[in-house]
Amino acid sequence: DPRLKAISDAITVVPHFPKPGIMFQDITTLVSNHKVFKHTVEIFVDRYRDMDISVVAGVEARGFMFAPSIALGIGAKFIPLRKPGKLPGEVISEAYELEYGKDRLEMHVGAVKPGERALVIDDLVATGGTLSAAIRLLGELPNLCLRLHIVYDLLLQTYCGYCDSGWLERNGAEVVECACVIGLPELKERRLLNGKPLYVLVEPR
Ligand code: IMP
Repeated sequence: DPRLKAISDAITVVPHFPKPGIMFQDITTLVSNHKVFKHTVEIFVDRYRDMDISVVAGVEARGFMFAPSIALGIGAKFIPLRKPGKLPGEVISEAYELEYGKDRLEMHVGAVKPGERALVIDDLVATGGTLSAAIRLLGELPNLCLRLHIVYDLLLQTYCGYCDSGWLERNGAEVVECACVIGLPELKERRLLNGKPLYVLVEPR
């Protein structure tokens, strides 16, 4: 696909940003190029149009640059997966490891309904830690603790008629695929993340 070369060419490499030794892949030059940005969104929209996807989840912040356009293109809703403390409503959150330390992604309780088919979008996948957290957040890989919470909630709901911890809503969407503009060659070849397919357009420059 000749569009892929143009997409790769439109990404700028910024050496030593934000730290010495890092070759930062800057997509601001991609999204400011109307033709290339359009091609990028079109490739995703063509791929996901007929896959019965009702949710496109974008990862803060650079996933937000692509996910809403893709959502509009395929007729799905957009939901933001945000960094801690940004969403005003009740949230559920998922921690993940960074190279140095930890971070979290948050989603509004009830943003996805059980059984909905979801697509997760970010600009770049490196270790896959961020996307794995997004997959767990959307409800695909509840850990043991979460499973116990869900059982507890179900019992509360059944016998007491109430449940307000928000855990029930968590066990929801089915992640169909994760997609990024840029992916490291190892991940590009593996094409699987937490057992979910991974789709990547180009390698880092
Ligand atoms: P991972 O969790 O190791 O896969 O890292 C992916 C996350 O780090 C994504 O949310 C990216 O936006 C961000 N990221 C890491 N390196 C870069 C880069 O060079 N350019 C843009 N984003 C990056």
